Amino acid sequence: MSKKQRIVLASGNAHKIKEISQMLPEFEVVGYKELGFTEEIVEDGKTFYENALIKAKTVSLFLNLPALADDSGICVDALGGEPGIYSARYAGDGIDKHNNELLLKNMEGKTDRKAKFVCCMVFYKPSGEIITATGETHGEIMYGERGENGFGYDPLFYSYDLNKCLGIASAEEKNTISHRFRAISALRDKLK
Ligand code: IMP
Repeated sequence: MSKKQRIVLASGNAHKIKEISQMLPEFEVVGYKELGFTEEIVEDGKTFYENALIKAKTVSLFLNLPALADDSGICVDALGGEPGIYSARYAGDGIDKHNNELLLKNMEGKTDRKAKFVCCMVFYKPSGEIITATGETHGEIMYGERGENGFGYDPLFYSYDLNKCLGIASAEEKNTISHRFRAISALRDKLK
């Protein structure tokens, strides 16, 4: 039996590690903490791509291994694309519940509820080679939270692809339409 090729994921988010492992069954996906990476990464890029590159490059050069990083977030039309790259820290404390409360507050009175999740993936090799791909999934911000599945803004996001809120969609359903799945699929084609 051939051993799976290992990919280091430049993320400590257990949800993401699980999602990405399910999407890349041909690889052994390992979170950076498991390999002893303990540095703090300052994500001060201006775009999803810049932030993903900062994470992948930092981890790759530290561990001297190819590393994969994603940067993702939700962009809301009526808010001029916000929270965008600030999605994780929208309310300031990094707590999903607070981010969702703030998003609902900022959407009060808005009839255009269109939004998209965006994910930029960067695969960085210690040689300096960069492979990147982006994925999006479209939907609307609901008027209140629904369900307890997924994470982050999922309970507020009505998916046009699934015709249901991601808070009630199963992991398998979400993984067929998610921004991360679409970015990974595009990246996988380029990795071949
Ligand atoms: P990152 O870890 O810096 O990429 O920040 C991503 C943030 O965007 C998360 O903390 C969530 O708030 C939000 N986000 C990204 N992907 C998803 C998703 O699939 N569902 C819900 N929220 C997401």
